[in-house]
Amino acid sequence: MSGGRRIRVRGQVQGVGFRPFVWQLARARGLCGDVLNDPEGVLVRAWGPDLEGFCAALDAEAPPLARVDAVDWEALEGPAPEGFVIAPSQGAGAETRVTPDAATCPACLAEIADPADRRAGHAFANCTHCGPRFTILRGLPYDRAQTTMAAFVMCDVCRAEYDDPADRRFHAQPVCCPDCGPRLWIEPSGGGAPVDEAVARLRAGQVLAIKGLGGFHLACDARNGTAIALLRARKRRPAKPFALMGTLTTIRAHAAVTDAAAALLRDPAAPIVLLDKAGTPLPEALAPGQGTLGWMLPHTPLHHLLLAAFDGPLVMTSGNLSGEPQVIGNDAARDKLAPFADAFVMHDRDIARRLDDSVERADPPMVLRRARGRVPGTLPLPPGFGAAPQITAYGGQMKAAICLVKNGQALLGHHLGELDDALTWDAFLAADRDYADLFDQAPALVACDLHPEYRATRHAQSRGLPVVEVQHHHAHLAACLAENLWPLDGGRVAGIILDGTGLGADGTLWGGELLLGDYRGFERRGFLRPMPLIGGDMAAREPWRNALVQLDHAGLGAVADALFAGSPLDIARRAASQGLNAPLSSSAGRLFDAVAAVLGICPDRQSHEGETAMRLEALAGRAAPDEARHAYTLQTLNDGCRETSGLFREIVSDLRDGVDPAVIALRFHAGLAQAFAAPAARLVEAGQARAIALSGGCFQNALLLRLVQRALGDIPVLTHRTTPANDGGLALGQALVAAARAVSD
Ligand SMILES: [Zn+2]
Ligand SMILES: [Zn+2]
Repeated sequence: MSGGRRIRVRGQVQGVGFRPFVWQLARARGLCGDVLNDPEGVLVRAWGPDLEGFCAALDAEAPPLARVDAVDWEALEGPAPEGFVIAPSQGAGAETRVTPDAATCPACLAEIADPADRRAGHAFANCTHCGPRFTILRGLPYDRAQTTMAAFVMCDVCRAEYDDPADRRFHAQPVCCPDCGPRLWIEPSGGGAPVDEAVARLRAGQVLAIKGLGGFHLACDARNGTAIALLRARKRRPAKPFALMGTLTTIRAHAAVTDAAAALLRDPAAPIVLLDKAGTPLPEALAPGQGTLGWMLPHTPLHHLLLAAFDGPLVMTSGNLSGEPQVIGNDAARDKLAPFADAFVMHDRDIARRLDDSVERADPPMVLRRARGRVPGTLPLPPGFGAAPQITAYGGQMKAAICLVKNGQALLGHHLGELDDALTWDAFLAADRDYADLFDQAPALVACDLHPEYRATRHAQSRGLPVVEVQHHHAHLAACLAENLWPLDGGRVAGIILDGTGLGADGTLWGGELLLGDYRGFERRGFLRPMPLIGGDMAAREPWRNALVQLDHAGLGAVADALFAGSPLDIARRAASQGLNAPLSSSAGRLFDAVAAVLGICPDRQSHEGETAMRLEALAGRAAPDEARHAYTLQTLNDGCRETSGLFREIVSDLRDGVDPAVIALRFHAGLAQAFAAPAARLVEAGQARAIALSGGCFQNALLLRLVQRALGDIPVLTHRTTPANDGGLALGQALVAAARAVSD
């Protein structure tokens, strides 16, 4: 045995305790050499026995927060050095990677719970394997001085842990203890321990504002209908589902937790996971009409202490004014949340970056809102994009998020919200500057939606850089391809894009589309019957408007007269017939609204975006699954249009026959799935498409996703699993379309 190895490790390997892991592994195996960070990741030079086993262990035994993408090596000549050391970082741009915030690890949890440990009951314990990261970061490089922990001077004991490569807290930037760390308090205080006072107030049915990782939450006892009603009344939020926090034992008592769901709940990202709520004794008011409840595990020591003392489920909803971003500052909380909260659980570690809770599903896996715990994780670009220039893509108007491309990686930024809110718009502009700084990125071109009125589009055009405008549903298709690492030259796919609305290439609004294309371009091969959106944006808020045009079109005007007698039907019909503020749209989202309204689900108004579609999914989930075999028919016309008049005649006929609305809802889902799956499959069978991609906001609907997948059988299907199918993923697709054009030029 002679010679050494120069080993390159790529992936998420900085800021996750990878160097001390390598150091310990090397010493345990009797190796000599060194390990360091550089711009490409981690570089190891090693001499000694069984280097093959060492290389395998670098991946197999990596620390919890690491993600190893590749371990490559080449032979090293020359004599072995003495010992094994952690060497200084090399090269500009080293140590610029920041990992997402991570839930408290089991080792820290054990310390907090151990009365003999010096961190017993400490609300801020963390280590290399867990704790705040992105939310406390003010700038780069990522070291303590650049975080909101800079204000806290490490005590000697913590300093010794921080400096010891053998310690779990080696170079853990937020390391602290009760002697030197942040302070916890409650306002107003009765003089007791903050956690005890908080729990007493929660038990008494009060609402608390609690400072979390990425912002304040409003919390109350999830079993207490009066407390929930109080919170809803104060927030003026009648129906939008409240997220819940509980221990895994508590969650299992209220929901069926599959292995996949348990794994997702326990993920270091600790997202909100939507779980079937059937049979729960918890109040219906938590998520009226919905089939799921959103649950998350406690993910900071403070949450663990609160949950352990409270011993039950808590509502944990965003602490914000309606439509505004979540509050992050103590003063802002006192100011803005005072009308909602009876008391404030505060601390003096500042939140540098606002991050909402991520929202995901486990069965099937999907991301509905990508934020805390997932950002700033990066995605590798698919094969063929290696020469892509630096790009910034600005996304859409709703569920805004920014995407940056640099060095073969894409960084899809956090969920920002709806850009028509002034504070969200400020957050968007801040995120644009911020991510560019963090990523040390200066785009050569920018990408945006085709829609000239989107604020993000106008911002892109104001930057003085070449602009690539990307059609909304083409961007959805490209985002799905990108997430699945579909190669640039991988061939065309059929894209079933079922969405709200986005500006189409022909100037009308699209949203229920069958596209055939790739990153470079697309053809429109199918679409839902375009219908007028009476009142423009009003149609998205008031489902009866969509039902009216569909019923009239199907020759069922009398049914509309009876169902919506209280609505201004004459004015609406006149607007539709004259095309006054009634743009045509093939939106699938509005078709869901129309069907829901006919079934009596929120016909007058939906209280939050997506409410009717989510209720319709929940309703369909109550039908016997084999009713899906009797799918409604959407007739295909010669130009690719899917006619909806027959669908509504079948629905009304079934209603008259007394068919259960749950069965009708399921037959509608199945009919819509069929109407797009069948022609997409034919494109694959004819050799025109190599796979089928599913994207657009309607694919947050797990039932629709399953029905489409089932209808496609053995055909390769690409779905979103780690990026949102909704407009939160739009910027990723825009960036890849722009990159494809740039590398093809
Ligand atoms: Zn830890
Ligand atoms: Zn300390």
